[in-house]
Amino acid sequence: MNTEFKDPANKQSFAGRGHGRRDNSLKKLLFECVSFILISAGFWFVLYILIKAESPEHYFVFFIFIQIAAFLFFSTYASAVIAVLSTLVAAAAFITGSDGVKVFAALAVLIYWAIICFLNMYENRETESCGRNKLLLENMQGAIAELETALKSGAKLIPALKKGIASYEKMAEFSLKLGTTFSLKDISMFIIKFTRSIFQEAEVKLIKQAGDACDRWVYSSQKPVYIENTAMDYRFDLHNSGDASSIIACPVFNGENIQSIIKVIGRQGGLLPSDLRVLTLIATLSSLAVENVKLFETTQNLAITDDLTGLYNHSYFMERLAEEISRASRHGEEFVFLMLDIDHFKKFNDDFGHQAGDEVIRRVALGIIQTIRNTDIVGRYGGEEFSVILPRTDLKRGLVIARHITEMVKKERFNFDGKYAGVTVTVGLSSFQDYREEDKIITAADEALYEGKKKGRDRVVARGSLK
Ligand code: GH3
Ligand code: MG
Ligand code: MG
Repeated sequence: MNTEFKDPANKQSFAGRGHGRRDNSLKKLLFECVSFILISAGFWFVLYILIKAESPEHYFVFFIFIQIAAFLFFSTYASAVIAVLSTLVAAAAFITGSDGVKVFAALAVLIYWAIICFLNMYENRETESCGRNKLLLENMQGAIAELETALKSGAKLIPALKKGIASYEKMAEFSLKLGTTFSLKDISMFIIKFTRSIFQEAEVKLIKQAGDACDRWVYSSQKPVYIENTAMDYRFDLHNSGDASSIIACPVFNGENIQSIIKVIGRQGGLLPSDLRVLTLIATLSSLAVENVKLFETTQNLAITDDLTGLYNHSYFMERLAEEISRASRHGEEFVFLMLDIDHFKKFNDDFGHQAGDEVIRRVALGIIQTIRNTDIVGRYGGEEFSVILPRTDLKRGLVIARHITEMVKKERFNFDGKYAGVTVTVGLSSFQDYREEDKIITAADEALYEGKKKGRDRVVARGSLK
């Protein structure tokens, strides 16, 4: 009844003793044959004593021997034969023995077979559950073996995976940084810094203008390039002063056009084709960031500019005026504020139509921009009214600029359906030096403008002290 369970890895060694033991191995077969021979020899030896036996006790000796043997080896073919023989011997004892022996032999056979049946049933059950367990165990062993193999191959991949995860984490951080940056200058700085952190051994450049043949190729083909060895690559005439090197260059796009090229220059063989994939990813993220900045700028411009003229709209101009006031106060500077209004514009619209009027507004706006400095601030204050801030300018200089504007507008001739026309403007000026506060500055300029209109238009009137 012993059940062996030696080593889970060795499926063959798991065996139950009994009917279920149908081990095909040569060892088991040999064991059963030897057992059969030994028990048969014992049987024939005891039978020999029996024939000469005069007392029934000899039957019992034989019977007990047979029982032990059958008990030990039942479940094999040999023990089955022995079981039958032991029954025959018991029958012989029953026939030839005294009354007491008869009763004993009958009882012994009954008990014997009851035990055998019980053991047999028990063994069958055990064998069945062993079979199930064996199947389960085999499955588990299979799974364990697969896991072991996977673990072994996985262990080899771990360093590469770790490196990959680290670089993708870096990449995610880089993309997050780019996504929250709205200045092209900062983006360029991030690109260089990040690419250098990835290609630490190599030289990293952000090319804005094609230098060598490689740059020109990227600009014209709009594709990334990988040069394993510049000395051996005959596509480009790259003269090498020192060691032959490898190059990867990827374009960063601004819409359809190339905004810049990220160029990585390594030692020969220092850069691999896999590095091209990494740099392409960096360039793609950078292109998205550049596009984002452009979109941001466009949206921002739409919110602060006037559709017709492209000048700052009223609300943004007022913000700039407030900024200028605080800046001038902080630094003890002066500035001049101008208010311009096109003269008799209502009539112009009536004579030439509203569209012609729009064109005049656009042209006057352009004229003002051309007359002033880049650092001056112009806005469309209202319908045909404009306002200008001239930073770091005194009232005297402001008057000169305002006169330039009126002259420029007066000189301009507009041709509407063959009819030539012109407009004049009146300008009112005030200075920060004299009025200091936003409301006061605007009111003073407005009053000056009104005075100019009253005095006959096409003129410049200033409020404040002329030094
Ligand atoms: P003045 O300023 O010399 O006193 O006379 P004015 O005719 O210009 O008078 P006012 O400033 O009161 O009239 C402004 C006119 O400008 C009214 C309107 O028809 C015209 N106007 C305002 N905004 C626009 C615009 O966007 N396009 C066109 N075509 N006309 C406009
Ligand atoms: Mg007006
Ligand atoms: Mg007007």
